[in-house]
Amino acid sequence: MKLHFFFFAIFLSLSFSFAPISARLFPNASSIPPWLSKNVPPAAWDAFRNFSGCHHGSNYDGLGKLKKYFNYFGYIPNSPSNFTDDFDDELESAIKTYQKNFNLNVTGQLDANTLQQIVRPRCGVADIINGTSTMNSGKVNASAASNDLHFHSVSHFTFFPGNPRWPAGTETLTYAFLPANRLTDEVKSVFATAFDRWSEVTTLNFTEAPSYQLADIRIAFYSGDHGDGEPFDGPLGTLAHAFSPTNGMFHLDGDENWVVSGDVTQSTLSTAVDLESVAVHEIGHLLGLGHSSEAEAIMYPTISSRTKKVTLADDDIQGIQQLYGSNPNYNGSTTMTTTKQNDSSHAGRRFSMVESTRGLLLLIVVGLAHVIL
Ligand SMILES: [Zn+2]
Ligand SMILES: [Zn+2]
Repeated sequence: MKLHFFFFAIFLSLSFSFAPISARLFPNASSIPPWLSKNVPPAAWDAFRNFSGCHHGSNYDGLGKLKKYFNYFGYIPNSPSNFTDDFDDELESAIKTYQKNFNLNVTGQLDANTLQQIVRPRCGVADIINGTSTMNSGKVNASAASNDLHFHSVSHFTFFPGNPRWPAGTETLTYAFLPANRLTDEVKSVFATAFDRWSEVTTLNFTEAPSYQLADIRIAFYSGDHGDGEPFDGPLGTLAHAFSPTNGMFHLDGDENWVVSGDVTQSTLSTAVDLESVAVHEIGHLLGLGHSSEAEAIMYPTISSRTKKVTLADDDIQGIQQLYGSNPNYNGSTTMTTTKQNDSSHAGRRFSMVESTRGLLLLIVVGLAHVIL
């Protein structure tokens, strides 16, 4: 009897999952139907542009939402109550840190350049995690300090707090796709290419595994709230997030208009996002890299729509090689070709709420079953 309840509990806990979506994936820019460009809904943070010129000491309708944004990305600590609409010291300080991280004039004001950066699509991973990460540390690259060619080299790469990485001796990491997303081979090959860019410069290799549950890295497209406490927000805004080692979760916003291959810069749709660019960035997080203030780096947090940016910068390579060492075959320059510029990024701190929620539910149901019996 108890066993019967046990299996019932397992069934219940497994069915407590978040419905995946079929992602909006377009094989290339010209396959996007023209009607989509006609009625583009407002992007997630467009309303923030209205705060241009707001002053410290005053109150503005909706400013609390901007504070929430800064809180989400680590610039304002968690508040015990809702964020007010006051332009207070806390917000000013957050703006200054943000401006420093993104190489803007540090004014503490919501000027046009700052707001333009704030509304840019980006990775959902915070820039400052537990108050410790410093995107713009400007540290002198120790390994390059003795090298005359790079004497003035300054690194901006970061790691997650505690420098988590996949265990020493790891040679191959497996990855798999959420079966319910039913991705085509063409889409899967984009991720394979993105993984190759990292394996080219390190000792790591990546291989697709048949089991989603058992894979080291689990890739899934989700829409909105998907159970890990970091809901997606529709077109633009946050594009994706991935978690630090050895969690392995890599989530992409299924509501983006993802362009799988070809020249995304030719898209007529203003919200088109290049899939590989975002994948290369998120894999950096999965391996242990945080955000970099180096605008050319793959690990820079933002990427504009209709932009392709897939080549690792020196900053990315220095960071990942510090964690895993260099590929003996790596000759100092990446051989893969790139198409265009710009950046992307986000997520890594919190562990799978989906898995922990399932586990908790299972415990509760099993406990109840025992009480009843
Ligand atoms: Zn997620
Ligand atoms: Zn990121």
